[in-house]
Amino acid sequence: MSELETTRAKLLLVDDRPENLLALEAILEPLDTELVRASSGEEALRRLLVEEFAAILLDVQMPGMDGFQTAELIKRRERTRHVPILFLTAISKDAEHIFRGYSAGAVDYLLKPFDPLILRAKVGVFIELWQKTVEIRRRDSLLAEQELAAVERESEVRYRSLADAIPQILWTTDADGHAQFYNERWFEYTGMRREAPTSALEVIHPEDVPRMQDRWAAAKETESTFEIEYRLRRADGTYRWHLGRAVCHRDDTGALLGWVGTATDIEDRKLAEERQAFLAEAGWVLGSSLDYEETLADVARLAVPHVADWCAVDIFVNGRLERLALEHVDPLKLALARELQASMLRARDAAGAQAIRSREPVLVPEVDENVLASFGFDDHEAEIAKVLAPTSFVTVPLIARGEVFGSISLVTAESGRRYGVEDLALATELARHAAAAIDNARLYAESERRSRAARALEAVGDGVVLVDREGVIRLWNTAATTITGVSEEETLGRPIADVVHRWAEISSLIPIAGKPGEPVRAETVPVEFGGRELWISGSGVGFEEGTVYAFRDLTEERALEEMKADFVATVSHELRTPLAAIYGSAQTIRRTDIELDPEIHDQLLAVIASESDRLGAIVNDLLVAGRLDADQLPIAVEHCDPAQLAASVVEAARTHLPPSVALELTAPEGIPDVVADPGQLHQVLANLVDNAIKYSPAGGPVALTLANGDGSIRFSVADSGLGIPATEHRRIFEKFYRLDPDMTRGIGGTGLGLYICRELVRRMDGKIWVESKLGEGSTFVVELPAADEKR
Ligand code: ADP
Repeated sequence: MSELETTRAKLLLVDDRPENLLALEAILEPLDTELVRASSGEEALRRLLVEEFAAILLDVQMPGMDGFQTAELIKRRERTRHVPILFLTAISKDAEHIFRGYSAGAVDYLLKPFDPLILRAKVGVFIELWQKTVEIRRRDSLLAEQELAAVERESEVRYRSLADAIPQILWTTDADGHAQFYNERWFEYTGMRREAPTSALEVIHPEDVPRMQDRWAAAKETESTFEIEYRLRRADGTYRWHLGRAVCHRDDTGALLGWVGTATDIEDRKLAEERQAFLAEAGWVLGSSLDYEETLADVARLAVPHVADWCAVDIFVNGRLERLALEHVDPLKLALARELQASMLRARDAAGAQAIRSREPVLVPEVDENVLASFGFDDHEAEIAKVLAPTSFVTVPLIARGEVFGSISLVTAESGRRYGVEDLALATELARHAAAAIDNARLYAESERRSRAARALEAVGDGVVLVDREGVIRLWNTAATTITGVSEEETLGRPIADVVHRWAEISSLIPIAGKPGEPVRAETVPVEFGGRELWISGSGVGFEEGTVYAFRDLTEERALEEMKADFVATVSHELRTPLAAIYGSAQTIRRTDIELDPEIHDQLLAVIASESDRLGAIVNDLLVAGRLDADQLPIAVEHCDPAQLAASVVEAARTHLPPSVALELTAPEGIPDVVADPGQLHQVLANLVDNAIKYSPAGGPVALTLANGDGSIRFSVADSGLGIPATEHRRIFEKFYRLDPDMTRGIGGTGLGLYICRELVRRMDGKIWVESKLGEGSTFVVELPAADEKR
């Protein structure tokens, strides 16, 4: 029981003499008070420290601290200042003492012996006064308590209504984290009933629960602010992103009372962030490759489920709209949706077709019966559409540089989202990126095609020249340069008449097709470039920019043809001569009408034999040349002694040497081996020696000289015969080429000897050339690798 609640007053009686105290007790007994004794001023003060008294009866004369000193101390103390003091004295009756007593705070000054009745009456007044004061104090405190309770009630109500009024979810927990309170918004959002709230965990997205629990545990552990972004399930079953926050709630001493938490819907901000992130990623994907079919399919995959439940990309292929990509997280639904594809692509009245037609994005915030009907689904398809239950969609045309490539559609369904203007903006931005990617890819493909065409043009063997309508050269490819010897720089931008000599005449001979692909036969015409006459076979095609001429160099072919003509002439002559001799000799021998002299008979047989040899040699040369052409002549190089080989050549030649020719061999001592096929080298040297003899009709010296070169062996065959003009030094090595094809000098030949020599020497890694002047004899030199001397 508190002190205030008791109405029994206490009186403090202070006197150093016990008998006085006893007397006082006796007098005051009937007042029904608690009488507390103190035998000194000090004791009285001690009592006053712990107890409350209605009045103090204080003896003035006491040893130690007297009554006045005690009273002064009592008055000085705040809590005891108002306690009435009655001085009791037997001695200090003079006015000075009485005054001192009052000034020390006395309410009365009583002289001993006192009248018991008066003393009791006086003390009774103070007791009553005290009791009243106590009563008043009690009432005051009661009132204060009631007022406080009222205020608290009011603030609780205010707090709750505030909590219910805010748009956020608000909750509180006790110090252990157990839920105590949820505001109205919580029940409204989650659809839970106030009467039967279930755990908050039930409405948090399962993917977010572990993260939430970790954070909550950490916040509780450290008594620090809890913060998280998580998805909360709405009454309709859809999830929305929230920012959850909770702070500690503490009392004045700082002790944890509990937590106050809020959850703020940040779905829109989150969506905006997702849109931005998606756009950034889509932009990156679209820019990462030129295969737009692949990148668009990737973008569709990216869109689902972040910005759409469905994403479709439709592209025109050869003028027909085709579905390039369709995405959804559920493969089953995807399969179902594919059944609707054909109808959707055909539907002329559907929003997608409208978007393409109008070149404007179309937003359908709410898919209703009418929207579904616009796709023209049959019953089966309508059934599927109902199952897939699209909620809203947005279709944006893909346009770049004025061309519509197709469209992109974003569709919502199970997420429950409804598209608005922001989603339209997102789709428009996405379509802009996608269209640019398609455009870039197509431009690149086109430029690739062109550059491939240009590269092909540079690589072809045919000369290609483009002449514009003004007759100015606009293209001159590499082959044109190679064939004519005139470079691109010298021709581009110049009139063709300035570049090609007698162009007017030539161009009239070249046939021109009216349009590409029209068959036209190329004509062969002689054209002069830089003093060189070329035989060119060309044709042209006219097109809007001018004429393209294509031509090839037939100079060599023409030469070959000429050569063949030479061959036919020479060989037929060469064959006919021995044949005629053989035939004539044989006929003569067969004659029966004349008797042949045995000597003549023998001579005729010798003619047959030698002419047959000649025929054989010609046929052999033809065979060897044929096998060389077909690359079928095996060559087996080895180390052979050049001096020995040359000696056998000279020896063989000597058997049919005309008496006017002196044949000589000069070989230095210790010449190294030559790396060659001995048989072939023998033939080469024999040919050269035979020619030297043959083309020295007036006879003279023929010298075969060996020399040791730098890592090579040189064989020179020198004569002082007819000689060869410088202009013909190269040509005499060509097949069938003869300086004197008509054999005005009566020297026969097939024109194959030197050709065979050149080909054989080349195959043995050697060189052959001639040093000669007309009328001053010739020296043919063959150079072949020398064998390593150390071997
Ligand atoms: P052929 O001797 O059968 O005509 P070759 O190929 O051996 O054929 O020679 C080609 C031509 O080179 C000869 O027709 C001749 O005009 C010329 N020729 C070859 N050797 C000599 C030479 N030693 N002196 C002058 N002319 C030669």
